[in-house]
Amino acid sequence: GGPNDVFGIQMLGNTLLQWGTEEQKHHYLPRLLSGADVWCQGYSEPNAGSDLSNLGLKAQLDGDQWILNGQKIWTSAGHLADHIFTLARTDPDAPRHKGISFLLVDMRQPGIEVRPIKMISGESEFNEVFYTDATTPKHEVVGGVNNGWAVAMTLLGFERGEAAATLPIRFQAEVDRLVILAKERGVADDPIIRQRLAQCYAKVQIMRFNGMRVLTRFLKGHHPGPDGAISKLYWSEYHKEITELSIDILGAEAMIPSGRHPSSAFQTDDAGAPNSSWSWVGTFLNARAGTIYAGSSQVQRNIIGEMVLGLPKEPR
Ligand SMILES: Cc1cc2nc3c(=O)[nH]c(=O)nc-3n(C[C@H](O)[C@H](O)[C@H](O)COP(=O)(O)OP(=O)(O)OC[C@H]3O[C@@H](n4cnc5c(N)ncnc54)[C@H](O)[C@@H]3O)c2cc1C
Repeated sequence: GGPNDVFGIQMLGNTLLQWGTEEQKHHYLPRLLSGADVWCQGYSEPNAGSDLSNLGLKAQLDGDQWILNGQKIWTSAGHLADHIFTLARTDPDAPRHKGISFLLVDMRQPGIEVRPIKMISGESEFNEVFYTDATTPKHEVVGGVNNGWAVAMTLLGFERGEAAATLPIRFQAEVDRLVILAKERGVADDPIIRQRLAQCYAKVQIMRFNGMRVLTRFLKGHHPGPDGAISKLYWSEYHKEITELSIDILGAEAMIPSGRHPSSAFQTDDAGAPNSSWSWVGTFLNARAGTIYAGSSQVQRNIIGEMVLGLPKEPR
C-alpha cells in the first residue's frame, strides 16, 4: 500500500518494462520502487475522455526539449505527485492515433500548474493540470515519437487487468465486514438482505476464479490487453452493488454518517476497518467513480464486444 503502487509500479513500471529504453528502465524503475519519484497519469482532457485519441495537449520539439502547452483533467493524486506520464499530440497533421507521443514530465517546474477539483464525497482527490510552455528533455519519450497510442494502450491493459488476481482478496474482506455490519444492525435475518449478501459473496468468488485465470495467463507470458476490460467492468459494477447494499443496511444513518472515513477514495476501505457509517457511505460515493475511471463501463463493453468477441465495430 504505497503511494506509487498504482500509477508508478502497476501502470508505468510494467509499461516501461515493455516499451522503455535501457536508460529509462535503469533510471526510473528503481526510483519508482523506492518512491523517489511519485507518478500520476495525464491522459484525460476536457475534450478527450472516452474519445481519448481526440487529445489536444501540444508538444513541440525545440532543440533538445519538448515544449508542452494545453490541459489535462481528472488527474488523480496530481497534487501529491512530482512526475506525470502524459499523452501529447506531437504531429497535428497525422491521423488522430498516429500523432500522439507518451512523454515523461517532471512536474516541479513553473510551466506546470495543478488545480484540485472537489468531489461528491467532499474530498479533492483529482485535479486539473495546466501546461504553459512546460518542458521535458527530448529523450523522455517512451516507445518512440508518434507511437504513443500503442504505449498508452499497453498501460491501460495493466491499469484494467493487472489487479484482477489481488482485488478479490480485498473484496472478500469487504463482504466479511458487511456481514458483520448486517448482524450488528439486526438485519441479518431479513430474507432480502441475506439474498443480496449471498449474491455479493458469489460474485467475489467469480472474480477470484477469473483472477486466477488472469494470473495463470500472466505467468505464461500473456500481458493483459483488451481482456482486462472483463475484470474492470465486472469489479466496478459489482462494487456499486455491494456499496448500495451497505447503504440499505445502514438505513437512515447513511444520511448522517459518522465515525472514521474510508482510508482511500479508490475501491474498498482497508480489510478489517471499523464498520463506521462513514466508511461505507464514503466507499459508496466513490464506487460510482469506479465505473468511470480507466474507461467507463460503456467503453469496456465496446472493447469486449469489438476486441475480445470480434463483433462488428460500433457505428461512428
Ligand atoms: C475518480 C476518477 C479518477 C480519474 N483519474 C484519472 C487520472 O488519474 N488520469 C486521467 O487521465 N484520467 C482520469 N480520470 C478520467 C477518466 O478516465 C474519464 O472520466 C473517463 O475516461 C470518461 O471520460 P469523460 O469523463 O470525458 O466522459 P465522456 O467520455 O464524455 O463520457 C460521457 C458518457 O458517455 C458515454 N460514452 C462515451 N463514449 C461512448 C461510446 N463510444 N459508446 C457508449 N457510451 C459512450 C460514457 O460511458 C459516459 O457515460 C478519472 C476519472 C474519475 C471519475
